Amino acid sequence: MTAPAPQRTTLDLIGNTPLVLLKGPSEAAGCEIWGKCEFANPGASVKDRAALWIVRDAEARGELKPGGTVIEGTAGNTGIGIALVCNALGYKAVIVMPDNQSKEKMDTLRALGAELVTVPPTKFADPNHFVHTSRRLAAETEGATWANQFDNIANRKSHIESTAPEIWQQLEGRIDGFTCAAGTGGTIAGTGMGLKAFDESITVALTDPYGAALYNYYAHGELKAEGSSVAEGIGQGRITANLEGAPIDTQFRISDEEGLEWVRRLLSEEGLCLGLSSGINVAGAVELGRKLVGEGKRDARVVTILCDTGFRYLSSLYNREWLEAKGLPVFPWLAS
Ligand code: PMP
Repeated sequence: MTAPAPQRTTLDLIGNTPLVLLKGPSEAAGCEIWGKCEFANPGASVKDRAALWIVRDAEARGELKPGGTVIEGTAGNTGIGIALVCNALGYKAVIVMPDNQSKEKMDTLRALGAELVTVPPTKFADPNHFVHTSRRLAAETEGATWANQFDNIANRKSHIESTAPEIWQQLEGRIDGFTCAAGTGGTIAGTGMGLKAFDESITVALTDPYGAALYNYYAHGELKAEGSSVAEGIGQGRITANLEGAPIDTQFRISDEEGLEWVRRLLSEEGLCLGLSSGINVAGAVELGRKLVGEGKRDARVVTILCDTGFRYLSSLYNREWLEAKGLPVFPWLAS
């Protein structure tokens, strides 16, 4: 066994996450399905990478100066990543979020020391939408930079420069397919681009939840959403700057029920406590594995992203009343 290399700064703990072979999904696919353990980042999600690259990029462009402020409109993992990175580098973090978000998330951001600004939940077209509010606030605040994770390609660069080379090294170049869902699209686009730079023949697949428009875009050229999903952090309705030029070869659409079934199985059979976007990603990876095996790649190896920890969803995914209210199956151990 090799222990992880010692690191000189806490920011060096971002990335270099473990890769694990997932037993149940591999059996279901008939080939190897590997999960990149992004819950092992300091902020417990994949978004620590984007947060670090976005802040470093703003510094390099001269926009963010010592003692400055990073402002972002986000309710979730990106805010947590930005708050931690800002603490480590001496910046202030201001997070703008709609006031209908869970108390859990607001408490977490406050606990980390971020300043919270809440706005009423509105449609994207409304100028008071939390994304527009965060942009305005950044423009009006002296010494502030707007993280703009959706259209700032420092986000996908984090995956081109870290996630993809890590996966390539960890599997010693023996990888046939990669898939994950898109929120900003930084992970799928950046990891896909980075892996294809190593080997053009790696199949990159988008795994889309219902309620998102990208499945139809990549399948039929039309941005069209159907159905809905309760998954947090994924589901996109437009081609963000991060998604522009993403090398998507094929696409799958996965229901919340399928994703939840993998969340249940990975926890009860393999001891991994994950969020729903990870379950949806694993369901997509099983689909991709089956497709590659069906095409004659009997020893195919597929990688997906285990985006964040299930501990972030104790009042939702792991709560009986919440699941029942959403009409979703309740994990047997929560049923009584
Ligand atoms: N899963 C979760 C839980 C997330 O918070 C995010 C980030 N929005 C994603 C998946 C998707 O990552 P990306 O923004 O890189 O598409």
